Formats: sequence, structure tokens, C-alpha cells
Amino acid sequence: MKEIKLRHHHLLCTQTFAGKGYDYRFVANMEDVVAALGSPKDLVIRLSIAIDDICSSCPNEVRGLCKDESSVIEKDRAAAMFLNLPEEATIPAEKLIKMVQERLRGLDDFWLLCGECEWLDLCNERLAAIKGK
Ligand code: SF4
Repeated sequence: MKEIKLRHHHLLCTQTFAGKGYDYRFVANMEDVVAALGSPKDLVIRLSIAIDDICSSCPNEVRGLCKDESSVIEKDRAAAMFLNLPEEATIPAEKLIKMVQERLRGLDDFWLLCGECEWLDLCNERLAAIKGK
């Protein structure tokens, strides 16, 4: 069984990812993670409010922490509450991604969860497109 480690708010980012990111390495890794989540059979997600398999290729990761760690932890906790998930868990990816997609259909604006994130407008555009399908 393959495992991907994700912090909670990245469950949302991976649903709205549109090929943009902090640098080439980040985008290439994000594409791999999103592709893996798109074929979730035999995959589990290990949830944790900590540096994960997306952060590990991010230029904002410094010595095991995000440079905006406190704000990112707030986003993780908001996402955990929105998705009704514990802070630590290992969950089959197929079940978890389906639940995330269902919850997103009831959301109108990521601002409620993500506040002043630099990707907010892009994610809201993607959310509207996803809900319009
Ligand atoms: S900005 Fe911070 S939380 Fe987001 S991927 Fe980079 S290191 Fe992780």
C-alpha cells in the first residue's frame, strides 16, 4: 500500500491545483501528488499538521518548518474542522478524496478557510469551475 503524507489544508490545494506554484520543483512534485490522488486505489493518506510530501519540495520549507508555520497551522486546523477530520489519521485515499470533493461542493469561498493566502483568487476560480461541472 502506497502512502502520501499530507497536512490538512493540502487536501484542498490538491483539488484546485491548476499547474501554478512557487517554482518549477514545487509544481513538478505537486503534479505527481495530484496524479497519485487521482488514482487513489491502494493509496492511503497519512494526515498530520506538519511538513508533508508537498512541503518537502517547496522553497518555503526551512529546516522542517514552513516559513509561515503559524498561519499554515491555522489553515490546517480550519481545513480539519471543515472536513471533520482529526489532526492525525491514516485514511484510505479513495474514501478521503471523495469526502473532500463532496464537502467542497458546499463551499462558496475559500476565504472562510484560507484567509489571505496568495492563491485565494485562483482557488476560488477553480472551485467555481469544479462546482459548475
Ligand atoms: S508554503 Fe509552507 S505549507 Fe505551503 S507547501 Fe510550502 S512549506 Fe508547505
